[in-house]
Amino acid sequence: MRTTGNALFDKLLAPRMTDNRPFLRTDNGEQVSFGDMADRAQRWAGGLRALGLEPGERIVVQAAKSVECLSLYAAAATAGAVYVPLNTAYTAAEVEYFVDDAAPKLIICDPAAEEALAPIAHKAGARLLTLGANGEGALLRALADANIAPTPAPTPRDPEDLAAILYTSGTTGRSKGAMLSCANLISNSETLAAAWRFSEADILLHALPIFHTHGLFVATNVSLLAGGSMIFMPKFDVDKAIAALPNATAMMGVPTFYTRLLADPRFDRALTKNMRLFVSGSAPLLAETHRQFEARTGHRILERYGMTETNMNTSNPYDGERRAGTVGLALPGVELRVVNPETGAELVDGETGVIEVRGPNVCKGYWRNPEKTAEEMRSDGFFITGDLGYREPDGYVTIVGRAKDLIITGGLNVYPKEIESAIDELPGVAESAVIGAPHPDFGEGVVAIVVAEKDGDQDEKSIIAALAERLAKFKQPKRVLFVNALPRNTMGKVQKQLLRERYNTLLQ
Ligand code: AMP
Repeated sequence: MRTTGNALFDKLLAPRMTDNRPFLRTDNGEQVSFGDMADRAQRWAGGLRALGLEPGERIVVQAAKSVECLSLYAAAATAGAVYVPLNTAYTAAEVEYFVDDAAPKLIICDPAAEEALAPIAHKAGARLLTLGANGEGALLRALADANIAPTPAPTPRDPEDLAAILYTSGTTGRSKGAMLSCANLISNSETLAAAWRFSEADILLHALPIFHTHGLFVATNVSLLAGGSMIFMPKFDVDKAIAALPNATAMMGVPTFYTRLLADPRFDRALTKNMRLFVSGSAPLLAETHRQFEARTGHRILERYGMTETNMNTSNPYDGERRAGTVGLALPGVELRVVNPETGAELVDGETGVIEVRGPNVCKGYWRNPEKTAEEMRSDGFFITGDLGYREPDGYVTIVGRAKDLIITGGLNVYPKEIESAIDELPGVAESAVIGAPHPDFGEGVVAIVVAEKDGDQDEKSIIAALAERLAKFKQPKRVLFVNALPRNTMGKVQKQLLRERYNTLLQ
């Protein structure tokens, strides 16, 4: 195999340039082979360069999930550009912040957003082109016009060069751009493909968004690297997932995919008999969901833990125990330690503290933000994840929440996960979220937000009474409120910041 000097292209696309097997299949019958993908990446990369995009320059993309949008990611990598995907839910005002920060040369948006983004692109001196859900818009026309024959070679790119900037979801404060190098992406996809045994025989059900590390890097890069194909869906839809599962071997999802499948009686052992792997991550999977899933299908979901800045850090084992409620063991090549949040001193197994990780998966810092980089990256190379957790003596890691979600009441620490687990175990409770609300005496007091099961008959009093037997007084909720659903972002994460804002004066 010839190498081109472009680290990502050589690893992910070059090995299968003449492979005619399908890489992507969509539910409307479109197929793109590995060879077509590599060819398209090179031709579009030539087009992007002809549009003036130089190596290392940023291309901001806020476009619907489509085969063309994924091809654009491959083309940007092949052109040596820095790919900056944005959540499709962001408003023009939010996009303005990212454009100001990333200073892109090119911005790609949905045709419907063109009018609102035009002044933002103009102010930033960036060219704005459109790409719709079916490939329509000015981008493909411009690439075709710019196209040059024969197929241009990829732009050389070193492993340490930047491949992407992914903005954190920014639930507290402004989003920061995590700088991910080609080597970061390559090492994590190699580690995961091996750990999860991906091969050419795999067909991955891909229903995740492609503006986030999970769908863009974990799912796509692992499939490309291993030569497995993907059933590529615009979004997660229970009916479509159920129709596709018999033809798939693996699925990567956020916990809500699994709870929604479990809510459907058609989802059972027979439907999943060709599947070999279900992976969950990006938000905590309830131990109860893990157990229900096994009882219904015979499969044990493999839960892993990662984040935008670090790619994937831990995973339950492929062979061996997939322990419900844990995120498994540090992946090969990833060092993980748990430290005291105040002193930074390493804690012993079983003690809860802040999780720090080091390895080839960890990003190079925050884009144009050396202060934030210094705050979250220790001088010995460990990255402070901001997640609280502990490690058992046999290496299994449990996450108990984000450090910023820790509740301090009367000077005592309360880990929301402990209270949530106690509430979730009560009959009639579907799920819960526990937050701290300002309290005149204690600084903060514990508040529980509960979603009841359909026929559940718990009320505030009965929950408080049940917890009184199990939890120390300071951990007991001062109030329990019922809601129909917890507020979640597109990756299924409960947005505790929204709950804190909503219930800010509840205990005053
Ligand atoms: P993001 O950068 O959007 O991928 O969010 C990363 C954060 O999601 C992590 O720092 C964790 O707080 C959370 N997270 C990811 N995977 C898991 C998991 N398996 N269990 C619990 N939390 C998770």
